[in-house]
Amino acid sequence: MWVEARAKELGFDLCGVVSAGKFPELQHTEEWLARGFAGEMKYLSDPRRRNAQDAFPGVRGVIVCALNYNTDSSRWIDVTHWPNDGEPRGWISRYAWGDDYHEVLQAKLRELAAALRERFAEPFQARVYADTGPLQERIFAKYAGLGWLGKNTLLLNQRLGSWIFLGAILTTLDLAPTLEDGVPPPDLCGTCRRCIDACPTQAFVEPYVMDARRCISYLTIELRGALPDELRESIGNHVFGCDICQDVCPWNRRAPATLLEEFRPRTFPATAESVPLQDGQTEYLELPSGPGPPETSDWLDESLFLPRLEWLAKMDEAEFRRLFRGSAIKRTKWRGIVRNACIALGNSDLHRGTSVHQRISELLQRLSSSVDTVIAESALWALSRIQ
Ligand code: SF4
Ligand code: SF4
Repeated sequence: MWVEARAKELGFDLCGVVSAGKFPELQHTEEWLARGFAGEMKYLSDPRRRNAQDAFPGVRGVIVCALNYNTDSSRWIDVTHWPNDGEPRGWISRYAWGDDYHEVLQAKLRELAAALRERFAEPFQARVYADTGPLQERIFAKYAGLGWLGKNTLLLNQRLGSWIFLGAILTTLDLAPTLEDGVPPPDLCGTCRRCIDACPTQAFVEPYVMDARRCISYLTIELRGALPDELRESIGNHVFGCDICQDVCPWNRRAPATLLEEFRPRTFPATAESVPLQDGQTEYLELPSGPGPPETSDWLDESLFLPRLEWLAKMDEAEFRRLFRGSAIKRTKWRGIVRNACIALGNSDLHRGTSVHQRISELLQRLSSSVDTVIAESALWALSRIQ
């Protein structure tokens, strides 16, 4: 119990220890891969993902830790009143609003690994995984007692729901398992199937089984080429990931908010170029200049919570790199975010004859002649939808 207590002192919300075993879910991976559900995610077929011994020879104990990343900001399904400025806005998955979770998790896991070194005098090896290696953390989490694997395929905890990041330390130490009887927590999904019914792209082929090729998270983050025609409309305003199958889950209804500032939505001070003219306005607003944080009102700032699609679509590669350093969003790369913003603009409900419509049309026209064929084609598609 020392490990679990130390992890909590270091700020983890949950921690459990399990012996590195061949759990049944690890073996199901092969069939899932054979059905082609992984799409272009080649790293998922790494055989080491099916056996921790192959990933880390000599491993005996697996310490699984969870960090709550829920914030008190609205869910996608609750955002009925968008900022009343006529600006089309996109949705970024909650997990990517703040600092890159890999870095936050890894720093805390390293502290825990250092605490192990102080506690145990015998020589041992330990390796930290924060979604950074061939390890299926959620399966180990289940057998370490952190929760159950829900029909939406995510780990669910009765108290925290599913807004949690999972990380692990693999070690050659023989640690006492958290669950003395080895029996994982029960599946509390019951007869519920809200996540399955709410998925806009019907990505669940059956309860507990997802075809990632249809999932908006895969499409907007992992897929490198053009988004499939038949799914573009269902993607709606999602520009990075999707939260719907978590938003609707009853176990997330009362999930507490994190105290960690790192996971709050990042905001970026507006610049004269990035603040658009509103209807009836003829000049750009005077923005404060000089050192220090500008005293602009909140609406002038760009935010990762409901970001303006125009801001994302207009972004050049250098700005993308600068703004998303230390953010999980960099995974989709500049081309991905511009492609996704174009598709979301094509799905937006723009009113013709407004200055916003004119600005967006001009922007899409410009992007439609981009040398990047994926961006150019996505912009053309969007233009055809809003004109
Ligand atoms: S993340 Fe969105 S698209 Fe993917 S399975 Fe869940 S609801 Fe469906
Ligand atoms: S929405 Fe219902 S079925 Fe889906 S994971 Fe949550 S409890 Fe389980």
